[in-house]
Amino acid sequence: MSKTDGQKLEEKLCYTIKNIGMERPEAIEKAEEFCEGYKKFLNHSKIERECVKYTIGLAEDAGYVPFERGRKYAPGDKVYYNNRGKNLILTTFGQNPLDQGVHFNIAHIDSPRLDLKPNPLYEKDELAYFKTHYYGGIRKYQWGTTPLALHGRVMLKDGSAVDLHIGEEKDDPVFVVTDLLPHLAAKQNQRTLAEGLRGEELNILVGSTPIQDDKVKAAFKLKVLSILNECFGMTEEDFLRAELTLVPAQKAVDVGLDRSMVGAYGQDDKVCAYTALMAELSAEKPAFTTVTLLTDKEETGSQGATGMASDMLLHYMEDLVECEGERVRDVLRKSMCLSADVNAAYDPTFADVFEAQNSCYLNKGPVLTKYTGARGKSGSNDASAETMYRVIRCMEDEDVMWQIGELGKVDAGGGGTIAMFIADMNVDTVDLGVPVLAMHAPFEITSKLDVYYTYRAFRAFNR
Ligand code: MN
Ligand code: MN
Repeated sequence: MSKTDGQKLEEKLCYTIKNIGMERPEAIEKAEEFCEGYKKFLNHSKIERECVKYTIGLAEDAGYVPFERGRKYAPGDKVYYNNRGKNLILTTFGQNPLDQGVHFNIAHIDSPRLDLKPNPLYEKDELAYFKTHYYGGIRKYQWGTTPLALHGRVMLKDGSAVDLHIGEEKDDPVFVVTDLLPHLAAKQNQRTLAEGLRGEELNILVGSTPIQDDKVKAAFKLKVLSILNECFGMTEEDFLRAELTLVPAQKAVDVGLDRSMVGAYGQDDKVCAYTALMAELSAEKPAFTTVTLLTDKEETGSQGATGMASDMLLHYMEDLVECEGERVRDVLRKSMCLSADVNAAYDPTFADVFEAQNSCYLNKGPVLTKYTGARGKSGSNDASAETMYRVIRCMEDEDVMWQIGELGKVDAGGGGTIAMFIADMNVDTVDLGVPVLAMHAPFEITSKLDVYYTYRAFRAFNR
């Protein structure tokens, strides 16, 4: 049947975002394959320290060597810089001189979790617990009765470091925040959802056997300490120096009968970290020098020496441009940055918080987010038309399907990314990343096609 004039006009003038599964079914297999590496990455990257360690292994396998100040580098050379074991910066030198700018791609590798308080261990009524202080934006009620693993680093008194990793292996014990049974929850049920579990109720059950000695003051607590001492040489005092955290013990898995989605903890923002990393590793002789950065502390506002509000990246750039005798400001003002972070995917079950025409959807590819913020774009980097043009052009030149989106309805809430910190360095910046369902939950969901197409978008940017 031939198209009417109106239909032709509609086709010519109107814009629709398409479903990749519908348009490019041949991509499904490639996406599945790509996500096998992604799931493995997630399982090795529950905290930023582990993510950096695992990533260095992948980078070295791909030919990266530690960055050396003052050295002359050639197009195609690959270097990395490790900041305090919590950030990793990877660079592939491009064909253009640095004074034409670099292409930044920045994702964060910290995720919401339950950190131990500095003095965490106590016993109450013959059970031993850890006190916690949550890290980042969590919905506290989601963390009750979720099996948790203990990760992090303890600095012992003699200065040696011990890394903990309990709850991840097949026969490991796990830890848990308890919750009430429905039979006795009548009063708790009257609380608001935000108060379903309160901050001071996020206590971690860690033991229930005593040391056999009735002269001991806290026998159940002492039993936990005796195990920690036996396994790691720790005493209670060592908690004061430690950096320990509880994260969901669940491994990354496929979701759905069609296995079209990935379910895992910490996909915000390891999904963009992995896709950015794979694009970085596979860059050969890009036109622009790439600077791919895995950052920390995004979930608490980017402050601290390993967060984007610090001068960590500026200092790296100063060292980098020194190699070619450039001034950093000349390089930054010509540079571009993808702030690689996730956005909230439209959820049909909770449709009322989304504005359907400007939401991102599963299986429609990476979402370009022009601005973030809340209450009138406050606290946002709002990308210019020129920046939007350049990034969209990169994707279209490589035939990458993508979508536009903003986070929820106007005034429904809001949120930020690291975009503003890079833009504040006088760099044209825009957010691009993967749509996520149940973001910040202990188990987040992404679509494999979106993960794969985000990698393709980042690759297009790194050409
Ligand atoms: Mn994020
Ligand atoms: Mn987040």
